[in-house]
Amino acid sequence: MLGLTLKEVSVAFREGKISPTELCKKCLNRIKKTQHLNAYITVTEELSLKLAQQSEARLRQGVSRGPLDGIPFAVKDNFCTKNIRTTCASKMLKGYSPPYNATVVQKLLDQGAILMGKTNMDEFAMGAGSTDGAFGPVRNPWSYAASYRTQTGAAPDSDWVITGGSSGGSAAAVASLTSYLALGSDTGGSTRNPGALCGVVALKPTYGLVSRHGLIPLVNSMDVPGIMTRSVNDAAIALGVLQGIDVRDSTTVPAPSALTELPEYFDVRNLRVGIPKEYHAPGLCEETLAQWSRVADLFERAGARVEQVSLPHTQHSIVCYHVLCHAEVVSNMARFDGLEYGHRSEMESSTEVMYASTRHEGFNDVVRGRILSGNYFLLKQNYQHYFVKAQKVRRLITEDFRQIFNSGIDVLLTPTTLTDAARYHDFTQEDNRTRSAQEDVFTQPANMAGLPAVTVPTALSQRGLPIGLQLIGPALEDKKLLCVAQWVEQRVGFPSISDFHNSQESRNEAGMPRREQTSAV
Ligand code: GLN
Repeated sequence: MLGLTLKEVSVAFREGKISPTELCKKCLNRIKKTQHLNAYITVTEELSLKLAQQSEARLRQGVSRGPLDGIPFAVKDNFCTKNIRTTCASKMLKGYSPPYNATVVQKLLDQGAILMGKTNMDEFAMGAGSTDGAFGPVRNPWSYAASYRTQTGAAPDSDWVITGGSSGGSAAAVASLTSYLALGSDTGGSTRNPGALCGVVALKPTYGLVSRHGLIPLVNSMDVPGIMTRSVNDAAIALGVLQGIDVRDSTTVPAPSALTELPEYFDVRNLRVGIPKEYHAPGLCEETLAQWSRVADLFERAGARVEQVSLPHTQHSIVCYHVLCHAEVVSNMARFDGLEYGHRSEMESSTEVMYASTRHEGFNDVVRGRILSGNYFLLKQNYQHYFVKAQKVRRLITEDFRQIFNSGIDVLLTPTTLTDAARYHDFTQEDNRTRSAQEDVFTQPANMAGLPAVTVPTALSQRGLPIGLQLIGPALEDKKLLCVAQWVEQRVGFPSISDFHNSQESRNEAGMPRREQTSAV
């Protein structure tokens, strides 16, 4: 049961093969068994069971609320959850319990889905490894799969690999079979990057299609709630529920059409698939490149037209992103001053000292670093040179995409990440921030332009770790994008998540190290 897709579980509920309470207990049990992954910051056990009982009563009375009724889901800890602590994996928000639910959380609850808990992440979603949070790093469940251990002869306690980030806890929750659906956030790739490294489907919808109300902001002009699932169709089901106007988020747009689920068959004949030549970026590993070619060939053999295209300004995306991101971080972090939320320093000799020490104690050095550089970019004498220029480059990046899609290209096919998941020790030993900044080279441009993009797992690397490929589509064509993604999913033969589950059982039974205890929080 744990290895099924969301869709399969909803059928199993209907056929009475399992009940929501039974399933919820199994998931809670599995969360305990996989604690070493550090995927959850908060597990909402009591609430989960209560919601499951209510769902069960509805199913018994034949008044199910739809395919999400009774489905366990997890939420990244930067979405507000009413009376449930929401920390952004920062000491700054320890003990902060919002008085309301984010719109996306509320919508899932309204559909009868069962909240299992809040997932671990990089502090305030700044990072690409899920290694930079106050609750310790998240471990990639594939670190414990037989495929990884036998290929690498890895020792469990030193050779585990990162999940990617910043929504690593959500990706790990879906991949380790404790939730069927998880919410992430995606500002520069934070849903797709961990999705690819953990072998799950991860969708960043069109900017504005899904409400940001209650998502603690990183970069308001790029933040999008992301969807992680075990199948493309599951992502479509979730998007169908989450999409559409929200009066609490003025940047939301109406959904172009209703979406329940995807047709099983999609004809790719005459589909025009673009391969952006600039995405042959330095650092792209051979195996990912091979997957990219393989899937392009699959399209070609099925009658699609695969064409090389050019996005000339993409190469500036990372630098441009960081200028804009750090500038927005400055204003978004300004609200954390020790007065209204979470942490407050005991050094109160003056208001200024209290502000400064609160922020010094509350934020990690990644966040503080971005506040510093963001303020630098915004100085009067630098504003034109950095901020305004970055805005102009952003426009050029967006324009590149517009031209390609206007010329008749239906989707772009690209890698999602440069390599499979790095060992924690490698990722953190190097200059983590430089590495981290480069991780999103393929994912960031879609955020710049507000376009929908999805990663689909396509193969296991020689190390036995997942490799994903990304599809990017025109704005508001999320449904078509998902149809193409499902076509890929049906053909690549990625090992089913339950095979993986079986292969890692032996290791888990042997007893895993306990979750690392982190100080302060
Ligand atoms: N890695 C990028 C950053 O650190 C993107 C993060 C995100 O998408 N939330 O800013």
